[in-house]
Amino acid sequence: MSDCVFCMIARGEIPARVVYSDDLVIAFDDIAPQAPVHTLVVPKQHYDRLGADVPSEVICALFAAVPKVAAAKGVAESGYRVIVNNGPDAMQTVGHLHVHVIGGRRMTHGMVHFE
Ligand code: AMP
Ligand code: ZN
Repeated sequence: MSDCVFCMIARGEIPARVVYSDDLVIAFDDIAPQAPVHTLVVPKQHYDRLGADVPSEVICALFAAVPKVAAAKGVAESGYRVIVNNGPDAMQTVGHLHVHVIGGRRMTHGMVHFE
């Protein structure tokens, strides 16, 4: 997708603070962090969201990258939250599948807030 912001980051066309990269995924810090650690893991190929079209090897690579990102960001031991906002009701704002890795501060237990 030529005009997708995360595709552009994956192609190196716009800058990002890259935390981790392999053949299938790239991880970079969120531009508007909601916690001391807020990093996104995205597939290098474009998929709109988590759906049946996403190959299992890509899903595997996304989640295999999460603990590597956590270690790189120093939150492997303290813990972190892993979030996928998937589709409109979940308020997904960037239409390229991505996994949020959020940590660095103690959170409350609830994670679902309705409009
Ligand atoms: P979501 O609401 O789950 O779709 O999350 C999209 C996330 O992408 C938000 O947390 C944004 O701050 C983040 N974001 C948008 N543009 C960029 C960018 N150019 N670089 C890094 N993060 C971005
Ligand atoms: Zn994309």
